[in-house]
This record gives sequence, C-alpha cells and structure tokens, in this order.
Amino acid sequence: MAKTKVLERKPLSFAEKTFLPQIVTGLKTTFSSMLQKGVTLQYPEERPTIPDNYRGVPTLVKDPNGREKCVSCQLCEFVCPPKAIRITPGAIDAEAEPERAHVEKAPQEFDINMLRCIYCGLCQEVCPEEAIFLQDIFSLSGYSREEMINNKQKLYELGGTLPDKHFKWDKKKAAEATGNAH
Ligand code: SF4
Ligand code: SF4
Repeated sequence: MAKTKVLERKPLSFAEKTFLPQIVTGLKTTFSSMLQKGVTLQYPEERPTIPDNYRGVPTLVKDPNGREKCVSCQLCEFVCPPKAIRITPGAIDAEAEPERAHVEKAPQEFDINMLRCIYCGLCQEVCPEEAIFLQDIFSLSGYSREEMINNKQKLYELGGTLPDKHFKWDKKKAAEATGNAH
C-alpha cells in the first residue's frame, strides 16, 4: 500500500492575513491597464473595422444595370456543406427583359437558412456568375426560425449592386470603353 504524505499548510504571515499585498498587486494591475489604450469596443455604438475579404452573411447581388446575375444553376446549392441553400429555378420575365429571357434563367425562389450557414464561402467560390457574395454583415438576429431564413428579396436587399467584372451583357460597351471595338 502506497504511503500517504501529509503536507502541512504554511501558516499565513501577518501581512498575508491583512490581504494588503494582494490588494496592492491587484490595484497595480488595474491602474497600469487604465493608462493603456483600450482593446475592447463599446459595441454596438462603436463598430469594428471589417477587413477586406471578410466572410459575413451571404447575399445575392445585381449588376450595375439592376439585372439579376444569378442564373439558378444550383451549383451553390449543390456545394453548400450544411445544405443551407434552397433554390427553385424559374424563367426570366420575357416582357421585362426580352434580350435575356431566351438564353438565361433566374431563380424563382432562393432561400438561405442562416441557422445552417457556416460562413464557409464555398457558394461564392463556386458561382460562375459572381452573383453570390459573403459581404460585411456580421450581426443577424430574429425571434423565430422562419425569420432566420433569408429569402430572395431579403438576399437582394442585403446584397445590393456590385461592379460587374466580366461584362457578360455589356461586352460591346466594355470593348468600346477600352478601345477594342470591332
Ligand atoms: S457560406 Fe457556406 S454554408 Fe453558408 S450558404 Fe454559402 S456554402 Fe452554404
Ligand atoms: S448564386 Fe451562382 S452558383 Fe448559385 S444558383 Fe445563382 S448562379 Fe448558380
């Protein structure tokens, strides 16, 4: 049987019994911190600076002409690891956009469940149309599960319009601007 060693507790000194050394040490830390620059923010009055390429809430964006860029190819829905995206493909209104209606589709419904989303950014990476972007929105709340599902309207409200880099529908105009018109 192992022998048990009993350790005697050292008796407190007079100073230790008054707790004064501990209080002085604590106050020293407090006062030295008061002179340093704060590292916390008074949120929500103060907001942090969001770095470029921050992965916030996923949103849908339109091109500078107000056209829906998403063609409801469903690649993002397929690639999304937690299956947060649900798309119902639809047609483009032929009367409103006759030049596009016979060549492209647009989502009839597009939902992103923010209770499932893990902000991985794979939807943005896979999108061939540069239509979905994780922007700088980081605080999202709701009172019910339903409120945490962003539908197509909300996704466009959050996303807004971004500059179009590949001029899918304005190739001629872009070529003219760069002096490459035929
Ligand atoms: S960021 Fe990731 S988890 Fe969220 S919707 Fe996109 S692919 Fe899905
Ligand atoms: S957001 Fe992009 S990847 Fe997703 S359905 Fe639309 S076009 Fe396809």
